[in-house]
Amino acid sequence: MEKKRNMQSKELICTACPIGCRLTVFQDEKSENWFRVEGNSCKRGINYAIAEMTDPRRILTSTVKVTNSHYKRLPVRTREAIPKHLIFSCMNEINRIEVITPVRMGDILIDNIASSGIPLIASRNLE
Ligand code: SF4
Repeated sequence: MEKKRNMQSKELICTACPIGCRLTVFQDEKSENWFRVEGNSCKRGINYAIAEMTDPRRILTSTVKVTNSHYKRLPVRTREAIPKHLIFSCMNEINRIEVITPVRMGDILIDNIASSGIPLIASRNLE
């Protein structure tokens, strides 16, 4: 007798390229990586869907306070995508810092934000 499959599914839009395929991800213990993906036009969609189900990440963009410039805020971002569950902790750190100019685009403002191993960097120059 065949064992009953655990088949939960989730709808996603693939953001790996501008086409934006509509994906359906099925949790399927008989499939490779425990997931089966439908709706993808290429293999990147499978990788995207599995990453979204197992370790969703985002580039975090925000601004930080500037102390010595007529610009009040400096745009910043994480250099790489961070785990989504760390976004709140990252925002707490971002809201606590103040930047002194000059700052160059790409300068590291927080070395290891929220213990993610990923730096927060300036998104633009500010003289
Ligand atoms: S599945 Fe492939 S073609 Fe479709 S949006 Fe993702 S990367 Fe683009």
